[in-house]
Amino acid sequence: MLKVLVKAPAKINLTLDVLYKRPDNYHEVEMVMTTIDLADRIELSSLPEDEIHINSLNRYVPDDKRNLAYQAAKLLKDRFHIKKGVLIGIEKVIPVAAGLAGGSSDAAATLRGLNKLWNLGLSLDELAELGSEIGSDVAFCVYGGTALATGRGEKIKELPPPPPCWVVLAKPAIGVSTADIYGRLDLNSLKHPDTKAMMQAILDRDFEGICQSVGNVMEDVTFKLHPEVEQIKDHMIRCGADAALMSGSGPTVFALVQHDSRMNRIYNSLRGFCEQVFAVRMLGQRHTLD
Ligand code: ATP
Repeated sequence: MLKVLVKAPAKINLTLDVLYKRPDNYHEVEMVMTTIDLADRIELSSLPEDEIHINSLNRYVPDDKRNLAYQAAKLLKDRFHIKKGVLIGIEKVIPVAAGLAGGSSDAAATLRGLNKLWNLGLSLDELAELGSEIGSDVAFCVYGGTALATGRGEKIKELPPPPPCWVVLAKPAIGVSTADIYGRLDLNSLKHPDTKAMMQAILDRDFEGICQSVGNVMEDVTFKLHPEVEQIKDHMIRCGADAALMSGSGPTVFALVQHDSRMNRIYNSLRGFCEQVFAVRMLGQRHTLD
């Protein structure tokens, strides 16, 4: 095999909670996440020389060892003593530094794809374990689908897919650093989402319950720094979204909406206001290794 194509879908947080800061300085988190049909395309091609090359036309995507897909390839090469090279082509669709785990998903897709290209025969669990060495969100992205993530985000408990709906996403043209937002969190005054209620609503396939349980402790911090993010959320609710929430540390905000006409209203009204707006479906199901 000389070439493998893999999709790297974005995730959204239906909940994001930070519980406490651990002695190792990581934050203990609790997040319900699901993958959506907004995906980068990763093309992995064998190279005759023993090197890793990144090819991406997006100027915000690093083309060296800072790239998480590069780190995924390097990890597999080192761990399994692989003396082959690979060209990693990244067609970027997911907005960068947006709270949608684009880089983590590229790394996860690279792990899944190289498992195939290099015939490694690793399971999703083994790939997820390797992924967690690269970044906290990579393990979730290896599996995809819907899950509760705990620990640093690397402990994954699978959940069934939520009932189908539209996800309208809007990313204002500002950059948000996850580390900066974590640093500004006041752990004593967080409005914690009800993660258990979210999980129960998903298990019950209760769309209304899901909409009532969305919550993200990082919203207040990002809203204070960038009021336009809160304005987008308020706008989505005014336009009839069933729920609206910031994903990750932002700045992307998403609306959940079941009716096509409301989806269109939200999508069209945001397009004049925001550079990057998407209307997609949830993916729901986990990835399979074929
Ligand atoms: P998360 O939701 O996991 O916090 P994010 O969606 O906010 O992540 P990314 O799109 O992953 O953020 O990008 C964060 C930074 O990671 C970028 O500024 C970029 O320099 C770096 N990066 C490394 N690899 C990639 C990649 N393959 N695609 C995009 N960014 C990457």
